Amino acid sequence: MALLCLVVAMVPDLDLVPGILIGKPVFYHGSFTHSLGFALVVSLSIAGIYRFKERSFPIVFKLCFLAYFSHLVLDFLGPDGRPPYGIPLFWPLSQAYFISPVPILLGTHHVAATSASTSEFLRGILNLYNLGAIALEALLILPFAFLGKQSRTKKQLKSFVRRIGPQMEERKT
Ligand SMILES: [Zn+2]
Repeated sequence: MALLCLVVAMVPDLDLVPGILIGKPVFYHGSFTHSLGFALVVSLSIAGIYRFKERSFPIVFKLCFLAYFSHLVLDFLGPDGRPPYGIPLFWPLSQAYFISPVPILLGTHHVAATSASTSEFLRGILNLYNLGAIALEALLILPFAFLGKQSRTKKQLKSFVRRIGPQMEERKT
């Protein structure tokens, strides 16, 4: 499930793919895949598929949506080097782009020009600044990941006690 969440969190940036195919990676970047509407579509689809694998629809939906949403939050809080600035958060209801008035995160440095070629794009993202930006984002996410792990461990402990408790009682008698 953790791996699925990791993949889902990267889905918004699939809008780089059509650009890569035409040799201009950022041409379509920051599109409707960076919206709550598309987050809903993706999360509902995955939860629907997982339902057939006897996984709980609400749990899979919630985890996928949160993973997807985390990407939108990070992009919203980071700087954007080219118009339209930000992300179309409420697509398809609104075409407006939203961005934090004050960039909280460093964001990644990459070529801003939509005409940049794939090699220019790759050369632009592989640098120490981006490594620092990733480290800062990881640091900000770490407490939440820790809290999630803590609550899961508590739940596992409770369910273990619930399962094993009656057996222990039987042994005593
Ligand atoms: Zn993104």
